Amino acid sequence: MERKLAGAHLTINLGALKKNYGLLRDKAAPAECAASVKANAYGLGIERVGPALYAAGCRRFFVALPGEGITLRELLPDAKIHILAGLLPDTEETYLEHRLDPVLNSLHDIRQWAAFAKNRGPLHALLHLDTGMTRLGLLESEIRELAATPELLDHLEIDFVMSHLSCGDVPSDPMNREQLERLQFFRSILPQKLQDTPVSFANSAGIFLGPDYHFDMVRPGIALFGGNPQADAPNPMQEVVQLRGRILQVQDVDSEFPVGYGATFRTEGSSRIATVSVGYADGYFRVLGNKAECAIKSIKVPVVGRVSMDIITIDVSKIPEEGCMPGAFVDLIGGAVPLDEVAAHAETIPYEILTSLGSRYYREYLEDAG
Ligand SMILES: *Cc1c(COP(=O)(O)O)cnc(C)c1O
Repeated sequence: MERKLAGAHLTINLGALKKNYGLLRDKAAPAECAASVKANAYGLGIERVGPALYAAGCRRFFVALPGEGITLRELLPDAKIHILAGLLPDTEETYLEHRLDPVLNSLHDIRQWAAFAKNRGPLHALLHLDTGMTRLGLLESEIRELAATPELLDHLEIDFVMSHLSCGDVPSDPMNREQLERLQFFRSILPQKLQDTPVSFANSAGIFLGPDYHFDMVRPGIALFGGNPQADAPNPMQEVVQLRGRILQVQDVDSEFPVGYGATFRTEGSSRIATVSVGYADGYFRVLGNKAECAIKSIKVPVVGRVSMDIITIDVSKIPEEGCMPGAFVDLIGGAVPLDEVAAHAETIPYEILTSLGSRYYREYLEDAG
């Protein structure tokens, strides 16, 4: 999309992304630092994010689905690529062809990959233990069954045993320690062959829980993209995403003027209302109406009235007129309006804000200076 034809501009700072990778890698060292880039690199564009992380030194990537893995393989011929969903039916040949290593989440997955490996192996994989999410991974009963049938692993190379934290962003939550202890216990009942296999446990948040949680490899996602890995601490990451919308029109109105669908807002004095070219169809959530703030040259202004499909309305009464002419830009995410704040106003998490970013933006990628 041509720059001047778009209603809003999304800027993705690849230099900041690489700095974030370096910060997380240094914090987790000597553990290896992989990257979680599922869902099109959290909505930011795997075509640019994948190679940028590789250039920053990342050699191991996690995606959710095999389709995502195939896309990434074309971009990064030499990277290790792991599929978090495990194996889907009848996909073994595809995994092998594109060198995608499944995360084996169940005995079902293990049997399927092992049966294929018998003729085509040895084949690589990761083994996922569920230490407290009841979502993906082997529970204790399945681990015991695996320990009783270790020949299932004969043609498999398990490169890492992994698990996933449910409450890592809240360091004081006792679940973190409980999951860590369960992981150690689960390791102790694994088949002999896997007892010394390297371990991966930490996502972004887990890296900040300290070295006990780092093990041999960490797999951050959101912190790479600027999201705060910890719920109640200052955000140590650099800002990667900036979203700016264009002003379409400015209206001067008197007191008691209704704004937007449903007339849910009425001006409280003579006011200036600016219409900005972004809406819920762009991933600017409808719940942000009458709630979120935007900024013009770092001055915060409120979103008033409901969010429409293509439009929001903001009260710019306190902004000098020359600062909000049609065509001018308003900061919607980034700068004075941190991603984490937008997420809080939308009653969600930065992950959902990023993965919902729409397709109508003019997307611009900033390379680092070096
Ligand atoms: C998404 C995901 C990650 C990355 O999590 P962040 O919170 O974004 O750092 C790591 N591990 C697994 C299993 C995941 O699904």
